[in-house]
Amino acid sequence: MATKIRLQAPIGMHDILPETQPFFRKVYAVANSIAQFYGFKKIDTPIVEDADLFSKGIGLGTDIIEKEMYAFRSKGGDFLALRPEFTAGMARAYIEHGMVNLPQPQKLYSYGPLFRMERPQAGRFRQFHQVDLEVFGEQDSVIDAQIIQIFYNILKELKFKNLIVEINSIGDRNCRPYYKKMLVNYFRSRESSLCSDCRRRLRYNPLRILDCKEEKCQPIKAQAPQLVDHLCEECKTHFKEVLEFLDEVEMPYRLNPYLVRGLDYYTKTVFEIYEDSEEGQKLGALVGGGRFDNLVKMLGGRDTPACGGAAGVERIVATLKERIKQENTAPVSVQKVFLAQLSDLAKRKSLRLFEEFRKAKIQIAESFGKDSLKTQLRLADKMGADYALILGQKEALEEAIIIRDMKTGRQETVKLDKIVKEMGKYLKK
Ligand code: AMP
Repeated sequence: MATKIRLQAPIGMHDILPETQPFFRKVYAVANSIAQFYGFKKIDTPIVEDADLFSKGIGLGTDIIEKEMYAFRSKGGDFLALRPEFTAGMARAYIEHGMVNLPQPQKLYSYGPLFRMERPQAGRFRQFHQVDLEVFGEQDSVIDAQIIQIFYNILKELKFKNLIVEINSIGDRNCRPYYKKMLVNYFRSRESSLCSDCRRRLRYNPLRILDCKEEKCQPIKAQAPQLVDHLCEECKTHFKEVLEFLDEVEMPYRLNPYLVRGLDYYTKTVFEIYEDSEEGQKLGALVGGGRFDNLVKMLGGRDTPACGGAAGVERIVATLKERIKQENTAPVSVQKVFLAQLSDLAKRKSLRLFEEFRKAKIQIAESFGKDSLKTQLRLADKMGADYALILGQKEALEEAIIIRDMKTGRQETVKLDKIVKEMGKYLKK
């Protein structure tokens, strides 16, 4: 018996419908232009990688690996995973292609889909998209500040207002183990008051207790020792310098001692960027990132300091859409000209004329399947066309065509062999 296919996208995954495409295009266009301005080069890594790459890089005790990774064994017996983030794949590519031998730093960027089996909720999907930037081979604190500045500029260019950067330092392998021990001792003596997730985190990932959102854990968290007070000299200086650079470019930031982020590979700087409003807090961070000086070595490469971040495209697009709704401004139509035809002869001539517009790179729309002029003009209006070209039986016989200004209704007849050139002039006006 044939099984019935469920005619719905998988839970937490969505079609990006035609009306949403311009928003995604806009985000990618802005990201491309700003990333390239700052000297980043585009790279695409596979959507599927060895599962071990992520469990080794991101860490076994993290939510992403423990609960959220789409991992599977292929028919050939390989243990693979859909990428839950970009950084580990980028680091793998950096090692695999010997980029360590190229002039350092190597600045790479990418965008595309990622997969995490999270509980679907507002701003959180199982397939989502990020714009990701990584700098490999530079330990200077100026890079941390620059990464933050670039993401901030991308959001500014997309007309985000009231942005706020939250920033913290989570130390390195010199100072973090000592702090971790202190933290574990502190939480262990209060274990029975922690939520069940945090009791588990206490064993696998105690730093994550600091960003627990459970009401119950808040008072305990508030009294916990803070990492910034226990940084080693090197991390302290690095953090101070990052903040000074941010001051220099007048970046609005606030220190958040509870910001630890979910992944094991971070060292020193961690940051997130939010829209500083109730709505923005609800939606969650637009951008997150930090320094990861140990990752390349952990994956088998040479000791390579690195820093990067990722912006969530769906969250950005949701805000752009909301803004358009509030301002009641439709995205600008690219269909400025519509070709309407009446009669068989006109339809045949229209087909050829359409090709001439394509060669002249003038965007033009049509609805050749419709025969009523009224229907075609209504469609032109809906598309937001500035001009309709009307080719009726009479015009087709006389080798002419009518240009109709859709706003004023004014019409002018021109020779058919002049229309492409004429429209070019009209559109330049
Ligand atoms: P992360 O890779 O977790 O540091 O996330 C970086 C950014 O990606 C976040 O600030 C969000 O904007 C976005 N993001 C992360 N997870 C999701 C998700 N499940 N659905 C949609 N966006 C996400």
